[in-house]
Amino acid sequence: MATFQEIEIGLRERLAQLEQRVGSVEDGLRHTHEPLEADFAEQAVSTENDDVLQALDSAMRKEYAEILAVLQRMQMGSYGFCSTCGDEVPVKRLRALPFARECVACASGA
Ligand SMILES: [Zn+2]
Repeated sequence: MATFQEIEIGLRERLAQLEQRVGSVEDGLRHTHEPLEADFAEQAVSTENDDVLQALDSAMRKEYAEILAVLQRMQMGSYGFCSTCGDEVPVKRLRALPFARECVACASGA
C-alpha cells in the first residue's frame, strides 16, 4: 500500500542511524573491556560507562528489532491492521506511532 511508503522511508532511515550508533557503542564497549589501567578511579568510571553503553545498546537493539518487524509486516501486507480486532489502524496513528499494533480503541482497552 502506497500510504505506508513515507513511514517505511522514515523507518529505513532510522534503521541506518541505529546501525551506525550500535556500531559506535560496541566500539566503546570493546574499548572498556581492554585491560584496565591501574588507576582505580578510572576503573570505576569505565565500569559506569559500560553500564550506560550496555543499556543504550539493548534499547537500540530493541528498537532495531521492532523496525525490522514492522518492515516485515509491511512486506507481508499485515501492517496497518489491528492485532486485536483486525480493523485498519488509521495511517495518521501509524505516522505518529509506527510500531503501533492496535487501533486506538483496542490500545486504550475499550
Ligand atoms: Zn482494534
